[in-house]
Amino acid sequence: MRESGGKRHAEIAGAGIGGLTTAAALAQRGWSVTVHERASTLRTFGAGIYIWSNGLRVLKAIGAYDKATVGAHVGPEFHTRDHDDITMEEIPINGPGDARLITILRETLINTLVDVCREAGVEIRTGSEAVGATPEGELLLADGTRCKADLVVGADGINSRVRDSLDLLLYRRDLGYGAIRMLIPRARGDVPHEDENRYIEYFSGSRRILYTPASADDLYVALCCGADDAEALKVPADRALWTQSFPHLANLIVRFGDAGRWDVFEVAKLKRWSKGRVAIVGDAAHAMPPYLGQGGGCALMNGLALAVTVADAADIGNALGEWEARERPLTEHTQDTAENLGSMNTWPDDVRSAVLKIVGKSRELGEVRMRTARHVPTGTEAFPL
Ligand SMILES: Cc1cc2nc3c(=O)[nH]c(=O)nc-3n(C[C@H](O)[C@H](O)[C@H](O)COP(=O)(O)OP(=O)(O)OC[C@H]3O[C@@H](n4cnc5c(N)ncnc54)[C@H](O)[C@@H]3O)c2cc1C
Repeated sequence: MRESGGKRHAEIAGAGIGGLTTAAALAQRGWSVTVHERASTLRTFGAGIYIWSNGLRVLKAIGAYDKATVGAHVGPEFHTRDHDDITMEEIPINGPGDARLITILRETLINTLVDVCREAGVEIRTGSEAVGATPEGELLLADGTRCKADLVVGADGINSRVRDSLDLLLYRRDLGYGAIRMLIPRARGDVPHEDENRYIEYFSGSRRILYTPASADDLYVALCCGADDAEALKVPADRALWTQSFPHLANLIVRFGDAGRWDVFEVAKLKRWSKGRVAIVGDAAHAMPPYLGQGGGCALMNGLALAVTVADAADIGNALGEWEARERPLTEHTQDTAENLGSMNTWPDDVRSAVLKIVGKSRELGEVRMRTARHVPTGTEAFPL
């Protein structure tokens, strides 16, 4: 199905990181692209996001890097701390030979991807809900419209209607743990001066607080706890309760605002990442818990790789098989490694502290954890950082 101008056409469900990256990369390769976003606006919620080297290279390759990284925070170190505020592990970042890691606002990332899409000629329709797709290459909308395309992409998130209409889900698991995310203004005295610019994950019992400067003015905070920890997952966050767990963060906790959003962590794996002319990308295909900060990174990588692989392919179905065979092993490694990191949520404090102090020094385990960050994604070979 080519447009009258001879261009190939893609219909994409979802204007998140996965859908917008795929859309931009296809349009930059001469495709006409329409993105359908269910929400009435392209606004995202208030939180930060970690982007590692692999994701940064994708942003470079699609021309989004310069704008996305304006005002980004570049942390000098990433620490994990125990219940007594003692560093268990220091993950090397941003030094010579280290993986790069920056943090930005989600809003900055999405706005930049939208701009790059529009510059490449992508049409983005808001208030347009997908309800399914056919392997022959039709995206089905809630208003009854059937949109024909050479390629349909389901980038409609963890609850993907496109994926489920094609019976592609192998399994989806609720991990029984999640996070309240919020943004607050940065302020002196939240943490000791030497910690102010660091990324720090604090553990206490089965709770975690992730401290993340996300710009010169914005602090992104994630409060993580079990889905059965009813008092802790309340929004607005219960300041007294969180202070009991993290007395050394009392200055920070007292400044928590009333806003915040709770999300449970999930894993999803598919039987296949495609069927006929339909590909599934992002959380719809490979949701993972955020312990490696790579869910968005994988959506960026797989979206670009999808566009690179199908761009000039004679047979879309074969190209989608090739794409999955090449990209899926690293994505599953990332999912599995992230899920394993969640197991320490339930360890007693002293055990966690002792284990992490030893494990943190293991070069092999460091390599396993950093494999995704150090990967050179398909389509980014000419875009070093
Ligand atoms: C607490 C937490 C922290 C995280 N931190 C990081 C991090 O630091 N770094 C990182 O890389 N990743 C992180 N992630 C993961 C990352 O947020 C996701 O992997 C990423 O947002 C997935 O993007 P996506 O485009 O696949 O899906 P989504 O972001 O879910 O986007 C899907 C889009 O599709 C739209 N949509 C849904 N249904 C339909 C429909 N039927 N029709 C049309 N549109 C539809 C939605 O409105 C949405 O705009 C984190 C996740 C969590 C839960």
